[in-house]
Amino acid sequence: MSDTASYGFDTLQVHAGARPDPATGARQTPIYQTTAYVFRDAEHAAALFNLQEVGFIYSRLTNPTVAVLQERIATLEGGVGAVCCSSGHAAQIMALFPLMEPGKNVVVSTRLYGGSVTQFSQTIKRFGWEARFVDIDDEAAVAAAIDDNTRAIFCESIANPGGHIADLDALSAISAKAGIPLIVDNTSATPYLCNPIKHGATLVVHSTTKYLTGNGTVTGGCVVDSGNFDWSASDKFPSLSAPEPAYHGLKFHETFGNLAFTFHSIAIGLRDLGMTMNPQGAHYTLMGIETLSLRMERHVENAVKVASWLETDPRIEAVTYAGLPSNPCYGRIASICPKGAGALFTIAVKGGYDACVKLVDSLEIFSHVANLGDTRSLVIHSASTTHRQLSPEQQEAAGAGANVVRLSIGIEDAKDLIADLDQALTKALS
Ligand SMILES: *Cc1c(COP(=O)(O)O)cnc(C)c1O
Repeated sequence: MSDTASYGFDTLQVHAGARPDPATGARQTPIYQTTAYVFRDAEHAAALFNLQEVGFIYSRLTNPTVAVLQERIATLEGGVGAVCCSSGHAAQIMALFPLMEPGKNVVVSTRLYGGSVTQFSQTIKRFGWEARFVDIDDEAAVAAAIDDNTRAIFCESIANPGGHIADLDALSAISAKAGIPLIVDNTSATPYLCNPIKHGATLVVHSTTKYLTGNGTVTGGCVVDSGNFDWSASDKFPSLSAPEPAYHGLKFHETFGNLAFTFHSIAIGLRDLGMTMNPQGAHYTLMGIETLSLRMERHVENAVKVASWLETDPRIEAVTYAGLPSNPCYGRIASICPKGAGALFTIAVKGGYDACVKLVDSLEIFSHVANLGDTRSLVIHSASTTHRQLSPEQQEAAGAGANVVRLSIGIEDAKDLIADLDQALTKALS
């Protein structure tokens, strides 16, 4: 597509990045199931390896099917480029990799997907990186956690599992003042509901495993580059601003301008970390994105109906859905995610841990799985599964206490979902 700026979201989710296949005219994006690409001649090969010409060398770095997906997600998010990788967790490492060094830290929201809490609090220590967890609603605490070694702030736009909405404008003001990027995990919101770049985010990460693919078929991740950060404004980001020994002293920011992060992620990140998305996976995700807005509208509509019903049910202690007027984040919807607060939230069930376990075992339409953002409604008891590795304090901070069940509301008939919850709650509390 040529002038994407004038097209609406529904057009772009179907067309952005794709064109009829130049070799065959195939209308659907072909799955380029190939590892390597024939060079025109030795000079062409040398230019590609020197990053003097952009093209396909080897599918660990770039692949035409994956490239369409990258352009599609970058366009929907309003970024200049994107790099897809093998999972959402891979995307988080890929986002931090060009920014971090041993001894550096990242200021991270306490309200994160449980796997991300573990990745940040435990695993990244092996790289000499430190995560500093703060309540991102406490702006003074966020600012106080930043020091000379801080290289980014990381949060989720709509947080998994509780559905808390981050005040992205406040956070990007803090990160801009500190001269560091704001990285936003936009998995639960998707670019249909929220555009973090409009609110000052430097990088947006996704687990494409969830709503973007939408049918629970493949794992994948993506890092979107806003192109808005001046990597050379300080000496904090030498991977992007200083000479790169592995490319004969090339400086990514000087050479690639606002695409520096994207080029670094491909030329160094994918090349050496190898967290590559495969073309078959990219195909499934491209299929999913074509209907993203249609699905998200139904997800949100159903979530509002189910959450409203649950809120008035005497067997439920609390519902965290930000789409309910009683929720403290409700006021943020208009500015941060005007098309709705997503379809992911938790409920606190009277009867605690035992009732929660019975509830997940009694549901018939809802599937008990460690996933979200499927067309199917899903349920999980976070404390005994995704958030199991966390301490009770971390579970509480993440909104995943022992009496809490997370719901990912699908696109089925809302009345059937409510009836299913009703019968399962009766069994859970009998
Ligand atoms: C699932 C998820 C991740 C991790 O993604 P994977 O594709 O499972 O690696 C990260 N962030 C959020 C918000 C998620 O829901």
